[in-house]
Amino acid sequence: MIGSGIGGAAAAALLAAKEFDVLLLERNRSAGGKTGSYEREGFTCDMGVHYAGRGDRGPLGEVARRVSADLHFIKKDPFLRMMKGERSRDLSLRLTSFPSLAKLGSLIGVRAKNLPGVYRFFRTLKSVKTEQDVVPYDGRTMKEFLFTCTEDEELHRLIDTFCGLLLAVPYGEASAGEFLWGFATWARDASCSYPRGGFGRVASSYIEACERFGGRVRHGEAARGIRVEEGRAVGVETEEDFYPAEVVVSNAGIRRTIDLAGRDSFETDYVDRAMKLKDSAGVVTIKYAVDCGLVDLPITIHYDPGSDFSKSLADMSRGVVPDDPPLYIPCPTLADPELAPEGQHLLMVGTVVPASFEAKDLAEKVLDRVEEKMKVIVPGLYDHIVWKHRANLDYIGAMGGRGAGEAIGLAQRFDQVGKLKPAARMPVEGLYLVGCDAGGRGIGTEQAADSALKVVDEILARTRSEA
Ligand SMILES: Cc1cc2nc3c(=O)[nH]c(=O)nc-3n(C[C@H](O)[C@H](O)[C@H](O)COP(=O)(O)OP(=O)(O)OC[C@H]3O[C@@H](n4cnc5c(N)ncnc54)[C@H](O)[C@@H]3O)c2cc1C
Repeated sequence: MIGSGIGGAAAAALLAAKEFDVLLLERNRSAGGKTGSYEREGFTCDMGVHYAGRGDRGPLGEVARRVSADLHFIKKDPFLRMMKGERSRDLSLRLTSFPSLAKLGSLIGVRAKNLPGVYRFFRTLKSVKTEQDVVPYDGRTMKEFLFTCTEDEELHRLIDTFCGLLLAVPYGEASAGEFLWGFATWARDASCSYPRGGFGRVASSYIEACERFGGRVRHGEAARGIRVEEGRAVGVETEEDFYPAEVVVSNAGIRRTIDLAGRDSFETDYVDRAMKLKDSAGVVTIKYAVDCGLVDLPITIHYDPGSDFSKSLADMSRGVVPDDPPLYIPCPTLADPELAPEGQHLLMVGTVVPASFEAKDLAEKVLDRVEEKMKVIVPGLYDHIVWKHRANLDYIGAMGGRGAGEAIGLAQRFDQVGKLKPAARMPVEGLYLVGCDAGGRGIGTEQAADSALKVVDEILARTRSEA
């Protein structure tokens, strides 16, 4: 296994539980990729800014159950404060219940004449029960699909903002199938929650399970190459050693994995297509450790009336700093107070920017803007800071190791999901992808865990049929 992001850690544990002799190689000193945690002055802080949309009812919980991982999700209800400018509504975990929809509708200001179309949209959302239900929407953009329901500008603005925050893709490019699946399961499961002990517990609990089943884990040892002989992956090279393997699973992303195995190992068409695949947009964050409670719900989402996420992302690609970046503001210590010294809290904020490291200077200015907005959204914040950590794109990029600050992995765009998404089984015998580049559906971490569940099923089916 190359990489211990949620995808790699989950697949390692699942395979070890099925009696595979697993060796996991992770280039970083700690586990979790984008979801690791660190300790600072008595706080356990996430390297990213995370919440689990479906908690123990989604794929993160399913992996934990299958490998008996020591992972527990904490729920709070109501859990989400939606803010549009200065107005706000507190929403319960049952996001598509009538009271929540009525509150959301009154916050965003849907026009009365558009209510039938808005109702049609939410009825479609509620009708999503299985992955098959969203397949027909995979190849359409969310914007196209929404126009078939309603032209209501305020609903369009809200869904564009959600596409940005959940998929890091603007709604004019995001796959309607992916968005509908992510949003519908988030609402249906009513289980949005946070792992006890910090988000880093997800990958580390899977790794503990992997080791319990006899798997070995080496941190700080990067894969430098995947050896391919006669069209078959036969092992992994690092600076220290060569590790022979019958199956190689890579969490390093499709492009890096192709380069590790050598482009000559694949057909030219496959390499060309993979190199053209687009990653999600990036994200920059600020973590505030504060000496008192300043918010009372675990997640706040803030966007401004008149703001346009798609336009501001396009503007940022041309170097323009947006006035009103939408903000995602989790407070994990409301779920798990033990992440901070008694009475103190962690407040985190993230916003979407282009992923390329070339956007670092712009991202720095976006972070300045985020700080100005946070002073208004969370009054008193700047009087209570114990420490503050601003993370630009290179920090995010160091966690995943793909050479950019992408938030998710491959973008869940209309032209690269479902049947158009790269298959987990690569066209080299014994070589598989896992994580957000392959096989799964859902929001961020849950897509990675879903990928692990599916990839492991495929490996088991394949190795059994070979046996
Ligand atoms: C700031 C931020 C906020 C987010 N918020 C949320 C949220 O609230 N909810 C949510 O569900 N998702 C969220 N996400 C998205 C989510 O974190 C990712 O989509 C998910 O964690 C990706 O998992 P992964 O397994 O695909 O890969 P990654 O986490 O990218 O892991 C890849 C791993 O492979 C390792 N690796 C790469 N190359 C090598 C090599 N050559 N040798 C050895 N190891 C290697 C890397 O070091 C890394 O550990 C957020 C992301 C960010 C950055």
